[in-house]
Amino acid sequence: MERKVGFIGLGIMGKPMSLNLMKAGHTLTVFDLNQEAVNSLVETGATAASSPKEVAENSDVIITMLPASHHVKAVVSGEKGILEGAKEGSVIIDMSSITPEVSRELAEEAAKKGVGMLDAPVSGGEPKAIDGTLAIMVGGKEEVFESVQSVLYGMGKDVTLVGDNGCGVTAKLANQIIVNLNIAAMSEALVLAAKAGINVEKMYQAIRGGLAGSAVLDAKVPMILDRNFVAGGSIAINMKDITNVMDTAHEIGVPLPLSSQLLEIFHALKVDGKIKDDHGSIVRYYEKLANV
Ligand code: NAD
Repeated sequence: MERKVGFIGLGIMGKPMSLNLMKAGHTLTVFDLNQEAVNSLVETGATAASSPKEVAENSDVIITMLPASHHVKAVVSGEKGILEGAKEGSVIIDMSSITPEVSRELAEEAAKKGVGMLDAPVSGGEPKAIDGTLAIMVGGKEEVFESVQSVLYGMGKDVTLVGDNGCGVTAKLANQIIVNLNIAAMSEALVLAAKAGINVEKMYQAIRGGLAGSAVLDAKVPMILDRNFVAGGSIAINMKDITNVMDTAHEIGVPLPLSSQLLEIFHALKVDGKIKDDHGSIVRYYEKLANV
């Protein structure tokens, strides 16, 4: 079913996701603080709005794809925010990676105005955002989830309702532990192999079909071999996620010894001026340690 969709946050992920929604036949109204990002969407047929409020006034489903919790709070419930303009019965889908606490808080505020809300963060990075094959992990009420299927499948392939509000972003926190610790493990292995004098490219070909093979390995090793650290997922964004992981875990009494190490590695990379680079840069932390 074609819908009137609003899209706020047209960055690395939001731009290709909104292009795919237009390709799927949905009508799009967009907003971003970055005018260039808005212009490029308008050139392909979207309508520009002057605020999140105006996006909501012109849409039945409003998507946010913003960096962190405070951006989502400001855009949803701040001045000229979505909730000032949203019609009763409309649905907000926040696809950003934020804290479960803020996600639940905003869903409650939305419900008071008769507006449905889902947290629906994604995994797969820019390549899957471009292909429209993102993994989407959703938190919210089943009837709200069912009402926006055509929109979610316009951007993703595996779309899963995990539980009530906050469960989608909690699944994403867990996802980020797995992805980033995988990159760290992979980096230790690559640096060991390199310093031992093995041809690292051959080693990668040798192991990728075995138990060490993974989507992370196939996404990051070729980038590392090419010395390509241009961010798909930046250190900044992943550091934000692992910080949210630690806060959430500590609040409910879950010690995460490996994730806390990871946060220290991110801090070291930040001090080293690599905060805007891809999280594949974790390998450069290990290279420095081993003087490779
Ligand atoms: P990005 O920084 O490229 O894009 C964010 C966009 O939001 C920018 O265009 C920015 O101008 C806009 N923005 C910020 N504040 C705004 C406001 N108040 N009003 C309107 N627009 C505003 O970020 P991204 O890489 O696209 O990531 C977006 C979200 O998706 C993050 O939560 C991130 O953790 C998550 N995510 C990213 C990746 C990835 O590989 N990049 C993968 C999965 C999930």
